[in-house]
Amino acid sequence: MIAFPGARVAADHLQPRLQERALVRRTFRQHQDMEYGPTVSAALAEYWNYTELEAHMHDLARRCSDVVRLYSIGRSVEGRELWALEVSDAPGRLEAEPNAKYVANMHGDEPSGRQLLVALAEWLCVHHRRDARAGRIVADMHLHLLPTMNPDGFEVNVRGNARGTDLNRDFPDPIERGAAGVQRPSGNEQPETLAVMDWIRSGRFVASASLHEGAVVANYPWDGSEDRGTHYAACPDDAAYVHLASMYASAHASMAASAEFPGGITNGAAWYPLWGGMQDWNYLAGKCMELTLELSAAKGPPAALLPQLFADNLAALLAFPLAAAFGGLRGLVMEAPTEPGGQRRLAAQAPKPRPLPARIDVLGINHTIVASPEFGVFYRPLAPGTYNVTASLDGHEAATATVSVPADGSGAQHAFSLVPLGAVTAAVVGGAASGWDLPRRFGAFGGPIVGKGSAPAGGLPAQLRWSAGLSPHHGATAAWEAAIGSARQIASFARRAPAR
Ligand SMILES: [Zn+2]
Repeated sequence: MIAFPGARVAADHLQPRLQERALVRRTFRQHQDMEYGPTVSAALAEYWNYTELEAHMHDLARRCSDVVRLYSIGRSVEGRELWALEVSDAPGRLEAEPNAKYVANMHGDEPSGRQLLVALAEWLCVHHRRDARAGRIVADMHLHLLPTMNPDGFEVNVRGNARGTDLNRDFPDPIERGAAGVQRPSGNEQPETLAVMDWIRSGRFVASASLHEGAVVANYPWDGSEDRGTHYAACPDDAAYVHLASMYASAHASMAASAEFPGGITNGAAWYPLWGGMQDWNYLAGKCMELTLELSAAKGPPAALLPQLFADNLAALLAFPLAAAFGGLRGLVMEAPTEPGGQRRLAAQAPKPRPLPARIDVLGINHTIVASPEFGVFYRPLAPGTYNVTASLDGHEAATATVSVPADGSGAQHAFSLVPLGAVTAAVVGGAASGWDLPRRFGAFGGPIVGKGSAPAGGLPAQLRWSAGLSPHHGATAAWEAAIGSARQIASFARRAPAR
């Protein structure tokens, strides 16, 4: 057990209430042990200092090595490793699957997330064979967990890092530096910020959430407003963010019932604007849709409240990455098989389709993502609705498709085939041949993939069709399972410093 000063102060404050609840809590703890298992409960029993956290993360990665990998994304000012856990059935391997992440304890005096994320990893390790949501996260995506972004601040229970910098004001700011200017560090960032920037740039994360304390709400971009005023600042993906934040809030035990924030969500600048925040940078420079989650009205909630916080958030923590990765549009971009003479080939003779790192644009949303160069896959979080989506790449004819993202969370899929400029397509029918084992290995697709492309003007008329029959993989609707338990309120206290 560590001396976490904030927790102790809060605990003293709460003494009468806690005594009153002691029996309830003991029963609750036993229930947790039964429901989650002892390894999960251990992560929710106390706050671990850096040494303890590091030892537990190593131990977890050893015990759960089939689905968990431990790695460091860099070091803090005082030299502490920024340890991350990757949860996947192929941890450490580059796959066509989406990546998502959770980051906690960016503010040193907001510690609960660091225990919650270790508990989440333990829970996924224990439950991935018996819970559909956990099974799908492990089988179909890579979930990365950074329990502490600010280990130095935690050790002395302060908000900033060892140099006193608030890390959620330390990212290149789009309003100060422009959208192009944020792509590179300004040169003044702290080591923790630079490590996270590198991680985001290299990780191709689809979505993320940063865990904070000081309110109970799901906050989404923009955090800053152009005129520095306190008012709603919508980013191009406002609808998708509102959708994802609402999804989190409604899967949480009580967030959506907030008296302060309608629906349990808020636009960052409408609450209070800030500049240099992590979520806006994730969106602009990392093409990663990040929420800032405020999970406890009190900062530094006593360790005794951790099991309750975990129970309140578990369903939402599972649903959010699945909804972001699979509930919008996911797809594939391949080069249309061609041959100079324009002669048709049998499928068995067809050249292997080449994945293309095409730009993916949604009409009306000024935000471009790029399909992965290795696999040609992309994951585009979107709110339910109908969209015109274009895949384009230099040297190829662009292709546009109309896709409908259903409201049930199962997502839309589309495979684009881009014809090289001046080329002629060859007919390819039947996906089993050539390179279509790729989507077969790529559990993200739950149904048949059907694509269609045609020869460019001037070429020989030819049609390109394929289908890869895929069996449904886990329940897509698992992401939308209702929140567990009934609404429970964490004791609320007067708010102190800014939350996010
Ligand atoms: Zn915070």
